Amino acid sequence: MTVIDPVQLARDLIRAPSVTPEAAPALDVLEAALKPLGFAVDRPVFSEVGTPDVENLFAVIGEGDYHLTFAGHVDVVPPGEEAAWRHPPFSGALDENLVYGRGAVDMKGAIAAMVAAFSRFKARRSDFSGRFSFLITGDEEGPGINGTTKLLDWAKARGHEFSGALVGEPTSADWVGDQVKIGRRGSFSATIVAHGRQGHAAYPHLAENAVMRLMTLLEGLTATPLDEGSAHFEPSTLEVVDVATGNSAWNVIPGEARARFNSRFNDCWTRTSLRAEIERRLSEAAKGEIHWSLEEGQPPSDSFLARDEALIGSLSGAVSAIVGSRPRLSTGGGTSDARFIKDFCPVVELGLVGATMHQTDERVPAADLEELTRIYEAFLDSIFARTQ
Ligand SMILES: [Zn+2]
Repeated sequence: MTVIDPVQLARDLIRAPSVTPEAAPALDVLEAALKPLGFAVDRPVFSEVGTPDVENLFAVIGEGDYHLTFAGHVDVVPPGEEAAWRHPPFSGALDENLVYGRGAVDMKGAIAAMVAAFSRFKARRSDFSGRFSFLITGDEEGPGINGTTKLLDWAKARGHEFSGALVGEPTSADWVGDQVKIGRRGSFSATIVAHGRQGHAAYPHLAENAVMRLMTLLEGLTATPLDEGSAHFEPSTLEVVDVATGNSAWNVIPGEARARFNSRFNDCWTRTSLRAEIERRLSEAAKGEIHWSLEEGQPPSDSFLARDEALIGSLSGAVSAIVGSRPRLSTGGGTSDARFIKDFCPVVELGLVGATMHQTDERVPAADLEELTRIYEAFLDSIFARTQ
């Protein structure tokens, strides 16, 4: 039985440059590692007008009812000024027990740990009768169009029903396993337009100043907090990010003023109920006297929370067994591909310490790769003990 060394595999993956969307070199390395373990490997390429074609990888093993998937991406952000690196960004150099290179923590290191963990698990558990897969994209750092979301649909169309997922994004803050993500906040962006009547600044009685109307609306919108937070989430936020009239003259009262805002919202809201609350506040502030409208901006995303004791309990228990303390269960920070996976199955996230991601000299201690491998292996043991 092949047992894989996470440090060696991480270095091999880094040496296969895969700046988004060029995933193929790194997928070759991954496929070569997975096939001897017994995985059936597919590499579907997805396309969409206006975006680059992207190659992805789905590898599955086993026949059981419970289907656990480990998800991640092999594409990386560009290295920037290569001469500024201590070691070339695609060298995978090992220097004083640190592995250097683009993708070391985000997230080729975690993928190497996932593969190594499964190889150790399988070597011990010849009786393994669950179903396990890798869902790996080359489009996480890019537009995110031809990656995880299409790969999930692709797998579903081939009869794969996922029971639970672990994403290996670098969620750890100070040491491996100090923090896992069990959900994410949603995001809602929109423009408020206040309509008035344009006029001469010297004759305000003949005009309706849209700026003053917009100020009244914004005051009404932000006077009270959206909520106080919930069991697993911080209070929702709403930040005004831009105010504009497009008026460059000194002697013109603007007839229209616009404010753009972004809200990061918790599980007290859906995008629909949040929009309704925003409209209610604007209506109340307008008192029937101010004419306004609301235009949605970037596509919204809903918040989500993994309500799955097998997944969260197994992951917390695995961290605790290897690290010695239970992880913080967080829903903070930005967004990840977990937002697509949550529509198919409960999803949790744990990866390396993110301190050097996207930076010059991105690097990971070899000891962290070993630690993460042991956590993932303990997680596999726990999940498949619970579900068989
Ligand atoms: Zn990442």
